[in-house]
Amino acid sequence: MTRNNDRTLGERTAISSDRYDVVIVGAGPVGLMLACLLGARGLHVLLLEKRTTIPAHSMAIGITPPSLRLLGKLGLDADFVSRGVKVENCFIHGESGYLGRVTFQDLPGEYQFILSLPQADTIFLLQRKLAEYPTVTLCYGAEVVELSQDEETCRILYAHGSERRMHTVAAKLVAACDGSRSPVREMLGIRAVGRDYRRHFVMGDFSEDNGMHDEAHLFFKTAGSVESFPLPGGRRRWIVQTDNFISETSADFLSSVVAERCGLTPSPAKQLNQSSFTPHRFNCERYYQGRVIICGDAAHGMSPVGGQGMNTGFADAEFLASALISIVQRGVSAETFLAGYDRYRRRAAQSAISRADWGMWLGTWRGRPLSVLRDFIIRHVLCKGIISRHMGPFYAMLTIPYNSLDRVPVQALREIPI
Ligand SMILES: Cc1cc2nc3c(=O)[nH]c(=O)nc-3n(C[C@H](O)[C@H](O)[C@H](O)COP(=O)(O)OP(=O)(O)OC[C@H]3O[C@@H](n4cnc5c(N)ncnc54)[C@H](O)[C@@H]3O)c2cc1C
Repeated sequence: MTRNNDRTLGERTAISSDRYDVVIVGAGPVGLMLACLLGARGLHVLLLEKRTTIPAHSMAIGITPPSLRLLGKLGLDADFVSRGVKVENCFIHGESGYLGRVTFQDLPGEYQFILSLPQADTIFLLQRKLAEYPTVTLCYGAEVVELSQDEETCRILYAHGSERRMHTVAAKLVAACDGSRSPVREMLGIRAVGRDYRRHFVMGDFSEDNGMHDEAHLFFKTAGSVESFPLPGGRRRWIVQTDNFISETSADFLSSVVAERCGLTPSPAKQLNQSSFTPHRFNCERYYQGRVIICGDAAHGMSPVGGQGMNTGFADAEFLASALISIVQRGVSAETFLAGYDRYRRRAAQSAISRADWGMWLGTWRGRPLSVLRDFIIRHVLCKGIISRHMGPFYAMLTIPYNSLDRVPVQALREIPI
């Protein structure tokens, strides 16, 4: 068994059949956040992760103020901020030139920025924090393959290590944080209703910032959108819209598309990685069944445009931690609390999904007439007057309903601060 943040992975020691309060499936950012929140309250937790290493790819980078506040409850916000880049402004360019900016400098509260930090760093920091909680065990190389439950107990069967030895473990509750393809969701037969956007992107990180430092830039062009975000260490991410899903490209593909559409020239020699993706959206028709609950990308999917997926998952974890603590420590009915989780978190996710839809819709218009219209809307409507003051809070996810526990109108949940 691999305990806490020990990175000696895939050991073959048999797991005892202790009964845990909660088994969490998946040690992505959301599973780790949930494990920390439960560990901070002394719950006995087993966290099972099929991977054997932290994924290197930077994936999610934007951490919004509600998530930073949640990290603050764990005493982690300063550590995150010191490793990341504070993005205080996002500059928007269209076919007709500079259109305006969205600023986060006037946000209410302590965090007047969106923090850029690669997902691998987020995972590392959360995993390191987990080591402080003696009641939490993290087990790598453990793939959950089967699940059953009755009114009081869940039984989880998982294959562990390179020999895939089978183990069974029992828990009062199971939280499935096992990502967008969630095997646990499949086992429960919960439907994920959605579709893909039929929009395609290529993304790469570069070890140079083209003189843009901590600024985010969006370019909405007739040939397709280009997004550019700062990363720690003077690095920069570029994302370009493409006509089709492109898996193989020439070494200078991203650089030449950026040069063509934006007149900027990130050097192909400085490119660190590349991936292609076709975003999809879905929201599950329910977020729990009996004593098994889905959380994070297992429950909902949205376009990475707008950077909301992980942040929405963190807010799920905050709500779910509070519900699980009440169920385990106060013996309150699971149904009452999980119905609340289902209701409020599904609504919050739906709101984030709709915002991502809106961003995808406006941002990916192609061709001259639609570009002229988009430039007009952004310059004269979104980046001007009263509406412009709402753009910062909107993109910082401050206006998502129920985006933190203290905005959920459930008195019982409020009584248990995490
Ligand atoms: C290009 C890109 C950019 C993004 N940018 C942002 C951003 O800026 N901001 C933002 O908020 N979001 C962003 N996102 C979304 C973000 O990456 C996801 O929302 C986030 O990873 C979800 O975390 P999770 O823990 O729910 O799932 P995952 O990260 O998918 O983790 C699930 C874990 O479960 C494990 N697992 C799966 N099956 C099993 C099993 N049977 N047994 C044991 N373990 C299992 C997996 O190995 C994995 O480690 C971006 C996504 C992409 C693709």
